[in-house]
Amino acid sequence: MRTRRLAVDQYVAGVLAGNRTTLARAITVIESDLSSDTELAAEILDSLLPHTGKSRRIGVTGVPGVGKSTFLDKLGLHILRDRGEKLAVLSIDPSSPVTGGSILGDKTRMEKLSAEPNAFIRPSPSRGSLGGVAGRTRETLLLCEAAGFNNVLIETVGVGQSEITVRSMTDFVLLLLLPGAGDELQGIKRGILELVDALAINKADGSQLERAQLARADYENALHLFAPGAGGWTPPVLLCSAVTGRGIPEIWDCVLRHEKFQVENGLRAENRREQALAAMRRMIYSELESAFRHDPHIAAKLPQWEAQVRDGRVTSFAGARALLSEFRYPRPRKS
Ligand code: GDP
Repeated sequence: MRTRRLAVDQYVAGVLAGNRTTLARAITVIESDLSSDTELAAEILDSLLPHTGKSRRIGVTGVPGVGKSTFLDKLGLHILRDRGEKLAVLSIDPSSPVTGGSILGDKTRMEKLSAEPNAFIRPSPSRGSLGGVAGRTRETLLLCEAAGFNNVLIETVGVGQSEITVRSMTDFVLLLLLPGAGDELQGIKRGILELVDALAINKADGSQLERAQLARADYENALHLFAPGAGGWTPPVLLCSAVTGRGIPEIWDCVLRHEKFQVENGLRAENRREQALAAMRRMIYSELESAFRHDPHIAAKLPQWEAQVRDGRVTSFAGARALLSEFRYPRPRKS
């Protein structure tokens, strides 16, 4: 059943006061696909926009089992306790394309962190929502910033597209790796290394320490093949253990070093401007695609055009032109 909505001012006041319950309810409005919520979502975001932009936006990615939730639990406590800051963790769960099920799993994740009053943890659904893989994670991030969370960590499973998504809304991306296994074993596409600002080999403890050290040398060599990233930042390869906590403070120091580097040379502001623009474009394309698919005239004709293109009776070019000529966004058509 749909929960009652608050007035815009109530969402805005609650979020600005850092009220986690109101923040969660505001996120529900943002994530809603109900057309009756769209206007409300836009008004909430508009009112909060002046209060956004003040957090570190950090992406953490890696294959299932690499230790992301264990790592975030430890890193989160470091940020909260040792540094006295607040943080939000948004987990983008891409859902398995095969089973439709969750990849991150339903088990309790980040157990210690979830009990902390200054931490806010929220899964960010990606399926079936406007904006494709990203869903509304970017907007959720903005709400968390307005609520005073000065660190927003976005966790995602390393399955290709999700790294690109997380890159498109953060200042810093950390790739977690397993000890020993090479690129192929870890399913890392070469391009991924170019998207990240630091690599950390997790589980560098006990009998795996030596393998982790070897993996580090391998990755350092691989990274030498790339030219340094924008402004001359070379991603470091670090070692950590999410279980013992070893290496976690060093990873956070690296985040802070990178922030200083980006702010000083103007790259952070520049990146964020580009990201905002790209997000707008993504929303437009996604809305257009959805309107196209839901247009009853298009829906009626699509199967036959698709069949003709598949059979080679019509070129893709001709099929696309014919269908597009039928599409008149946003003219409402009732058949
Ligand atoms: P996720 O799927 O990436 O979120 O991975 P999890 O955090 O659920 O961890 C997967 C498994 O690896 C769990 O059994 C963890 O206890 C274990 N694990 C995570 N980090 C470490 C680590 O630093 N060292 C060791 N030895 N095990 C770890």
